[in-house]
Amino acid sequence: MANPLTPDALADPVALTRALVDIESVSRNEKEIADCIELVLADAPHLTVQRHQNTLMARTDLGREQRVVLAGHLDTVPLNDNFPSRMVDDLIYGCGTADMKSGTALALHLAVTLPDPRYDVTYFFYEAEEIDSAYNGLNLVAQTHPEWLAADFAILLEPTYGVVEAGCQGTMRAVVRTTGRRAHSARSWRGVNAIHAAGEVLRRLQEYPARSVTIDDCTYREGLNAVRILGGVAGNVIPDRCEVEVNYRFAPDRSIEQAEAHLREVFTGYDVEITDAAPAALPGLTAAPAREFLAAVGERPAAKLGWTDVARFAALGIPALNFGPGDPNLAHTQDEHVEIGRIRDGAATLHRWLAS
Ligand SMILES: [Zn+2]
Repeated sequence: MANPLTPDALADPVALTRALVDIESVSRNEKEIADCIELVLADAPHLTVQRHQNTLMARTDLGREQRVVLAGHLDTVPLNDNFPSRMVDDLIYGCGTADMKSGTALALHLAVTLPDPRYDVTYFFYEAEEIDSAYNGLNLVAQTHPEWLAADFAILLEPTYGVVEAGCQGTMRAVVRTTGRRAHSARSWRGVNAIHAAGEVLRRLQEYPARSVTIDDCTYREGLNAVRILGGVAGNVIPDRCEVEVNYRFAPDRSIEQAEAHLREVFTGYDVEITDAAPAALPGLTAAPAREFLAAVGERPAAKLGWTDVARFAALGIPALNFGPGDPNLAHTQDEHVEIGRIRDGAATLHRWLAS
């Protein structure tokens, strides 16, 4: 089969976006798209290419003082009557157009067309970002070939609609338990109602003064919320247990340990079990390549509020940010599309920054 990633497509990020979208690559089905990309990377004499499963790493080795990473995931969420792509005026519609094949196209375009970038560049085209992190290509590389990730700065081309979104908030889930004593509801005074006791937990949540924290010009707005409540035995029993599951989104000035200590303080007097946590990432915009990238973008950065693979780089001590042409509000929707103008602007920005 002829490779749809033709030289003409590689030279034009818009055509390349369509070509990538038209290779179906729902998570766990990235082999074909990875094969196609591997062939064109291997054809570029200025790149060294390595592969782990369906994740590709391609790097220049020009002896530059600093190394930057450009990374894009290859997978998409399941199709939803939005495949293959179609063009309507200046929009490309289709699964993965915004999240994130338009961003991945920018990285691939630069990888093959820019033989002498001003920094050494490591490109990642990786599998399984949209599913459980056990499959995540960057996570697998961090475990099996951590040296591939060495860099001074990283950009993930996730959808941000052309603005820089830096760092990311951490997330923690916890279960707050109340206990009581069962009794027949006809003689309720003999029991202690654990659901009623949860009222105080909810009151603390309702009155919780969430912080806003500004770091490197980015403002992170925290949140502490109940996301589930469980309790009750039967229609005629005073319940002896109630669980309030809470989700804490915390700013990057707090470590996981500090976030946990804070949660335990908020719920002093209750049984608190931490069930899941992922660290926040500092924006790290003071590194020289980051500052120069911000200058090339020419706009102020914003805080990333969700959790992204940026935190994987941060955990390795590599400042990282998100910057991509897609609109994050369209990610995972049936109506997913990307503006051609945003793709061209993104390509121009990255080119301004990377071309010497
Ligand atoms: Zn994505």
